Amino acid sequence: MQFSGRRKKLVGSSQNDLYEHCLQFYGQPPLENISLTEFETFAVERLKLLKTVENLGVSCVKNSEQYIKKLDAEILSLNFPLKAELGEQKVQGGISEYEKRRKDHISHFILRLAYCQTEDLRRWFIQQEMDLFRYRFNDLHSKHKTDFLHKNNLKYETVSAEEKKNLQDKLIASSYGLSGTKVEEHDVYKVPFQDALDLVRTRKVYLLAGNAYIPHHEIVTIVLNDFRTRLSKALAMTARSLPAVHSDERLQPLLSHLSHAYVGQDYSIQKNIGKISLEQIDALSGKSFPLCMRHLHKALRENHHLRHGGRMQYGLFLKGIGLTLEQALQFWRSEFVKGKVDADKFDKAYAYSVRHMFGKEGKRTDYTPYSCMKVILSNPPSQGDYHGCPFRHSDPELLKQKLQNYKVSPSGINQILELVKGMHYQLACQKYFELTHNVEDAGFSLNHPNQYFTESQKLLSGGRDIKKEVDTSQRSQENPASVTRPSQANSKQAREEMGDLDSFFQDE
Ligand code: SF4
Repeated sequence: MQFSGRRKKLVGSSQNDLYEHCLQFYGQPPLENISLTEFETFAVERLKLLKTVENLGVSCVKNSEQYIKKLDAEILSLNFPLKAELGEQKVQGGISEYEKRRKDHISHFILRLAYCQTEDLRRWFIQQEMDLFRYRFNDLHSKHKTDFLHKNNLKYETVSAEEKKNLQDKLIASSYGLSGTKVEEHDVYKVPFQDALDLVRTRKVYLLAGNAYIPHHEIVTIVLNDFRTRLSKALAMTARSLPAVHSDERLQPLLSHLSHAYVGQDYSIQKNIGKISLEQIDALSGKSFPLCMRHLHKALRENHHLRHGGRMQYGLFLKGIGLTLEQALQFWRSEFVKGKVDADKFDKAYAYSVRHMFGKEGKRTDYTPYSCMKVILSNPPSQGDYHGCPFRHSDPELLKQKLQNYKVSPSGINQILELVKGMHYQLACQKYFELTHNVEDAGFSLNHPNQYFTESQKLLSGGRDIKKEVDTSQRSQENPASVTRPSQANSKQAREEMGDLDSFFQDE
């Protein structure tokens, strides 16, 4: 991909050659020039799409009618049209078929760059891309599926009409959802059994002489295996080229921001400022704080101290829920002086950093509370630290004990631990919200600890007190232009700011 200059114009047959099919294996990287603005927009929009796929994959049975219906609706509401009319290159609803395919292609490759960096990121990316691919492949008309296979050189041997006739009874008996008419009308593929292990393991296909006989509707499993293998190799290759990409100072901040990207409301804007009294914090921590903040609050009350990772994460959260600077100073001072720090030392060593967090010192930047992605993916806690996300960073046994202490039911704990096992940390937290608030469906996708607090307060107070803030959040969802984006300048600035702020916190 080239990233400078103006976009190369592709016209006529060269456009058609580039994207022959609405679905692709993303074999060739894009070669055209692309502006940094487009680079960033495509990346953020695909990230939103993959997050939607992840959320639905956990809240619904994958490929069920409900899953497909919801995904159809969600994709419609995102700025990411994927449905295609094969063969039509004319403009539909403002976006031509070529533009749709181009966006799909380029955005996939940008996220490859951002998500090849660690094993965790690669696994997450492959899973979401596979789910998206399966949904799109299943949505294709049978003719277009065959087209896709041919165009991608997936030349699975089709069983001749005569052989199908001879094997008809056996094929019907061994394959789910296959009738005599379907055997006659649709293709059946003959594939070496080692390429169809998933289907063999689940006894969904007929086996003969080392070959699996795959009905047309099951071919997606084979194609997906192929897609997974290709993508996983490609990510490993991409990771090798990272040093070169990281040396590009325009891209490096964008890419590292993307893998931690948060695409929701900016909670540095304090709508509730001054509405919370210090006396309320203990009660609020039990009712409305997410587990990460409840854990930090408890540690602070018990140890009268938090190391700098904890002070940053918790301090910015408290600021986001509405503590004023004066309240924050009083809060931290009163707790620290109960421990080994006297008032004088607090004023010298810690008060500056609290004022700095509120933008009253140094560069006078209004710092943003951490999103879940930031907490989960950066700065993991070590011995003596209490920051981080308990769903990501706690040992499962320890997490279980914590949840038992907080009176979560055994079945609820099992559900949470299952989600943690599948690395769906935010969904595990959302489940914790549902269980502790006694609601069946949280009704929001959790992305931010301050969002957790806001939603909890909204629920507990019948939506009165923080209505203003919720409205703002909804507005920002509705209007893509107002969504917080990791603009190049902003992300660079944010990293500098955080680095700058970090240096003011001394660790003890
Ligand atoms: Fe905190 Fe987010 Fe983890 Fe929940 S998922 S505990 S809000 S970091």
